[in-house]
Amino acid sequence: MTSVMMTDVVEHLPPAEEKRIERLLAKARTALVLEHPFIGNVALNLPYIVDYGVKTAATNGKNIRYNPHFVDSLNDEERKFLVAHECLHPMLEHTYRRNGRNHKRWNQAADYVINKLLDDEKIGKMPQGGLLDNNIHQAGGGTTDGIYNILPEPDDDGNNGHGDPLDDCQDGDGSPAEQAQEAAEWKVRVAQAAQAASARGGVGAQQTAARVEAIRNQLLQQQYDYGLKLSGIGDQITLGAIRTGLEADRYVNQLSNTYFTNVARTLAGSPTVIQYGVPA
Ligand SMILES: [Zn+2]
Repeated sequence: MTSVMMTDVVEHLPPAEEKRIERLLAKARTALVLEHPFIGNVALNLPYIVDYGVKTAATNGKNIRYNPHFVDSLNDEERKFLVAHECLHPMLEHTYRRNGRNHKRWNQAADYVINKLLDDEKIGKMPQGGLLDNNIHQAGGGTTDGIYNILPEPDDDGNNGHGDPLDDCQDGDGSPAEQAQEAAEWKVRVAQAAQAASARGGVGAQQTAARVEAIRNQLLQQQYDYGLKLSGIGDQITLGAIRTGLEADRYVNQLSNTYFTNVARTLAGSPTVIQYGVPA
């Protein structure tokens, strides 16, 4: 039996190279803000951190860690997809409700949900090898929990007949109570972002209001359910809010898709703080 020697040592790039790649990410994020402000505004609040210890990219809901070699290997559209992908993990609370389920299988299920959303909305371009399959998506009811349930358990080598996730969605830090709190904050953040997107679009405001109300009710319910931890019931509701936000962006983009109009709209509609990665 032959074994392939895997090396854990990843070459660290010179600071100037790291800076160049950081700017590529910042450029992808700026493009997201201009073209898809619903997700772009979420991206502005997730700082980037260089981490040669991750193979591609990773998130725990607090930041996006990335391997510069991987980011450099992508093109502009793929980087846009990657940044949006990382935002959607905590938006869908994947970081807080794995509940001890198999890490890889959970990541695969989460990616099947996210990649389909981004592909449907034509946000960037999925990097090669990403998990995208309409039949699996449909068979699993379009939710992370549903798709998890129909995926086989990986064997000891991590194989289950499905490919590798794009990235590593990790569990949030802290105690269960802190994680529940963070998950609740993400719910509110998604609801507010969807509401803002609808307001920008001037459409679907009623629909969004109803979804925000549903999320509030769910948060109340979770106070009773605390101890059962977060379950899959949130997926459908949050997915609804996310789809509303994306729809609103799409509507606005149909109305006006020139660069300068996008800039004006974004400046007017997004009171956000840029934390990191602004090109010098
Ligand atoms: Zn992922």
